[in-house]
Amino acid sequence: MSKSDVADVPLGKTQKETIPDYDWLFNEDSDRDRKKSRFLSKIIKINIKPILLSLFIYLFQSLPVYMIPLCTADIINTVTGSISTGVTDAVWLRIGINVAIVLFCIILNVPSTVLRWKVASKMLRRTSAGIRMALVRKLQSLSITYHKDMQTGKIQAKFLRDMDTLDSFFSTMIHGFLLHVITLIIYVVIAVIKNGWVSLFFLLIVPFNVLLRNAFYKKIRAVNRDYRVNAEGMSAKLTSMMEMIPVTKSHGLESEEIYSVQNTVQKVEKSGIKMDKTIANFGAWSFVVNNVLSIMCLTFCAVLCLNGVGGMQVGDIVLFQSMFTQISSAVSALVNSMPQIYAGREAVDSISELMNSSDVERNIGKPTVPTIKGEIQFNNVNYKYPNTDQLVIKDFSLDVKAGECIAVVGPSGSGKSTLINMIIGFLPPTSGTVKIDGKDMSGINLSEYRHHISVVPQNSILFSGTIKENITYGLSHYSEQDLEKVLEMANINEFLAELPQGINTVVGEHGDKLSGGQRQRISIARALIRNPQILILDEATSALDNISEYHVQKAISTSIQGRTTFIVAHRLSTIRNADRILVMENGECVESGTYEELIAKKGKFFELKNLNDMTSKKVEADMDKLA
Ligand code: ADP
Repeated sequence: MSKSDVADVPLGKTQKETIPDYDWLFNEDSDRDRKKSRFLSKIIKINIKPILLSLFIYLFQSLPVYMIPLCTADIINTVTGSISTGVTDAVWLRIGINVAIVLFCIILNVPSTVLRWKVASKMLRRTSAGIRMALVRKLQSLSITYHKDMQTGKIQAKFLRDMDTLDSFFSTMIHGFLLHVITLIIYVVIAVIKNGWVSLFFLLIVPFNVLLRNAFYKKIRAVNRDYRVNAEGMSAKLTSMMEMIPVTKSHGLESEEIYSVQNTVQKVEKSGIKMDKTIANFGAWSFVVNNVLSIMCLTFCAVLCLNGVGGMQVGDIVLFQSMFTQISSAVSALVNSMPQIYAGREAVDSISELMNSSDVERNIGKPTVPTIKGEIQFNNVNYKYPNTDQLVIKDFSLDVKAGECIAVVGPSGSGKSTLINMIIGFLPPTSGTVKIDGKDMSGINLSEYRHHISVVPQNSILFSGTIKENITYGLSHYSEQDLEKVLEMANINEFLAELPQGINTVVGEHGDKLSGGQRQRISIARALIRNPQILILDEATSALDNISEYHVQKAISTSIQGRTTFIVAHRLSTIRNADRILVMENGECVESGTYEELIAKKGKFFELKNLNDMTSKKVEADMDKLA
């Protein structure tokens, strides 16, 4: 995958200065294992300097670990030797030198530990921040269809849980794995110098531990994967539960919802227990193997000493025993870090799933459209959704002049939203062309093009900020006059006066503190402050009551002046003033004309209108009855 595919969203200025750009770490290698190894080798390559520096500092930091057993053995040998030769000044001097060396190494441990952590921590935190930002950029560059298909909870799990796992994996590698390898090498060198026979014995630790690792490898990998998949499922379920709370509560479905979440929580619980059991089993076996080997080594050294073989002294038994403990604990720490390493590789896999998704819009290098008039042309457009066979837009052609207001009506599933998504550039036609001001949309930078479009969806999406922040979302520059103008146009001033802090009132999460009509008018103001050349109103009034609809409709009629406007509407009375009405049926435009023309024609639109009126009357009658 090229860098442009994943980083199609420009880096923010501050991020570029402080956080490395790691989008290129991910590649499209089809072989999963090779992909993970390449990812890791790239991470090591870019961090090679701090890694080597931290390992070098570790040599000083770990000096007491080697020097204490060596000096202790030397002191014991000196003391046991002095029993036959007598205590001389040379004996005291030797003991004094050993103590001084140990003390020096211990004191040196403080600055070297602090320095090594500083170097390692900076590298780890930067790497993690770089990958997190790569994920954020990727999420922003993925198509709207990807986001619709992928559950938010799963994405959150990747961002939070998998990134945490990856962090502890890197940390294990830098603060554990590599250090244990160094410890092992140093001890083996010391052992070989001291006594070749015993060092051969030390080498036994490795094959035993490798055998143990192999016996558990597949199981640990499988339980880790199982746990991750279940945790992602739980996260997705939890997010959907939170989104559904208003519906759940209003239908009294709390216990059903608790039950269905409980299922996913139980799955995580069960797979977690399985994972813990496997890891505990593995840890216990590695403890047994290493301690049995340790007892065998002690016995071997005792036999050598008693028989006077290889110059083995009492102090050397202590030295070898302590070295054995250190080596076996380094080997078992290495082997024990395997589950964390598998979990880390699994996290790489999971994050790569998202990073390697090719469902991105390729905009870099395409010409931008600094200004547009707003002419739109559909030429023989067909569309079918990926992984389906059926055309949902069939041979559709349309010529829209700049500033024209087009209403799109038709039964549910007739293709209205698909058509609108093609105008926004979210869905490229399967065949045929969509042109903006005569330019094929496939050849322009769509992200830039969308700066000229505003969409008011059926359900306004507000975040938990003030009304002003919601209206000016994403705008770095706007004038107070612009703001006042759109407040007026969107009919917001009418309810602003009643709010405690006016435009600075916090709207609550998803705008819950406002009515549907008020939220929708904020949505309209947000659309208008951008002064878009193309305005899309996608069922903007469908979810509103009559009074709210009246206010929003008023806001809409002033907003559409001078812009190319597309209105998708269920209530046909709301599109009376459209320049042209398109009637969609099964992905085809079956009728088009002005309101009056279509009514006079007594065709599909007329039928729809009658059906609409009847439904409205029935609803009104039912409401009256209820009242
Ligand atoms: P409308 O907006 O008129 O209700 P849509 O444009 O949403 O209609 O849908 C047109 C057709 O496309 C429907 O048959 C619908 O089931 C299908 N459709 C919509 N979205 C998808 C999708 N993401 N994947 C597959 N089919 C889809």
